[in-house]
Amino acid sequence: MKGMVRHHQTDYRWEGVDVHPYKEEGTHFRNVTRQTLWKGEGNLPVEFRYFEVGAGGHSTLERHDHQHAVMVIRGGGEVLVGDTVSPIGMFDMVHIPPMTWHQFRATGEVPLGFLCVVSAERDRPQRPDDAQVAEFVQAAAEFVRR
Ligand code: MN
Repeated sequence: MKGMVRHHQTDYRWEGVDVHPYKEEGTHFRNVTRQTLWKGEGNLPVEFRYFEVGAGGHSTLERHDHQHAVMVIRGGGEVLVGDTVSPIGMFDMVHIPPMTWHQFRATGEVPLGFLCVVSAERDRPQRPDDAQVAEFVQAAAEFVRR
């Protein structure tokens, strides 16, 4: 196994790495790109990715058995983890546990960029069905005070 040094070029682009629009079934995300910086093998079977959510954009609302370890390295925004929305900014660390609803949002005028480590072997994300959306709405209704 060979080592690697992959240099950052400029503006959150790395040498030899393609920038992909983040595609899944449907269009449940907005303005998201993905760069896979490294695919591990042997005793470190992970993928090391950089995602960028454009200003006003958001990632897919989803859950899955695999976990995410995330660090923000550009801009800021908000993240939903389970039933909690938190502001996030530069160098903040986020852990998404198994089967936990999550979504990243670039709520400000700048993109939200983050590194995301994920297992190389992972299950397919689930999207909320109508019943689960109703649970979100109910939780929001219980939260609201007026
Ligand atoms: Mn996910």
